[in-house]
Amino acid sequence: MGHEVAGKVVEKGSRVGKVEIGDFVSAETHIPCGYCYQCETGKRHICKDMKILGVHTDGVFADYAVIEEVDIWPNDPSIPAEYASIQEPLGNAIDTIRPGNVAGKNVLITGAGPVGVLAVGVARVFGATKIIVSEPNRYRRELALEMGADEVINPLENNLIESVQELTTGVGVDFAAEMSGNDKALKGALKSVTAGGSIALLGLPDEEVSLDLTSDLIFKGINMIGITGREMFRTWHIAARLIKEERIDLKPVITHKFPLEDYKKGMDLMTSGNCGKIVLIP
Ligand SMILES: [Zn+2]
Ligand SMILES: [Zn+2]
Repeated sequence: MGHEVAGKVVEKGSRVGKVEIGDFVSAETHIPCGYCYQCETGKRHICKDMKILGVHTDGVFADYAVIEEVDIWPNDPSIPAEYASIQEPLGNAIDTIRPGNVAGKNVLITGAGPVGVLAVGVARVFGATKIIVSEPNRYRRELALEMGADEVINPLENNLIESVQELTTGVGVDFAAEMSGNDKALKGALKSVTAGGSIALLGLPDEEVSLDLTSDLIFKGINMIGITGREMFRTWHIAARLIKEERIDLKPVITHKFPLEDYKKGMDLMTSGNCGKIVLIP
């Protein structure tokens, strides 16, 4: 398993030109076919015949991993390895926040798992004015605050829609990023977006979700956008730049570090929800 990684090149195929032995690299996780309509029209990240590193191939929770040349991302040597290893999820956050054009706007983020927490940092650096985060887990609400959230809501104790209305003087948010996959969060986020605003969905609901499209989307002129993965490699350039120039502080996101052999401890902690990103060190 595993697909978020940073490491050193110790061997390479004879025709690989992108890196040299000894280079410090990370990996994109979409393995595009290179030939389909999407690949040929600049949308390799939604390739029709895509494979995923660590899902369709052996993963990176290992001392050594094989990465396809198309997925190699050479890192600036000055970036700490643990930050380099989470550029891939940071890319998820960047691609979710980017369509919101959030500069000067009020933003709602539902779900403060690691990518939601990264999205808080991204919205902050992209110039959002007020960032409201809805998250039931107290530990993760704290992380959201550390990453720059202005307001956190526990949706189990407070009504999300009413809280957002109060915090935005009855206007609602310009943009919502749904990062949880929870159907109540999705419905609440959509109702919290002001008419003419937009919502991006990254969280994956397990089942079909029924929405009041007439009232909540069509009559409000809302733009709804599905986000999967991250654009290759536009998003990586943004992530690497933000880290190298220290525009985003990733320290609060990485809450735990374990040696690789303690992966089970990491998995249990992840299941508990009381963590951000957990870095495994071989
Ligand atoms: Zn393709
Ligand atoms: Zn990932």
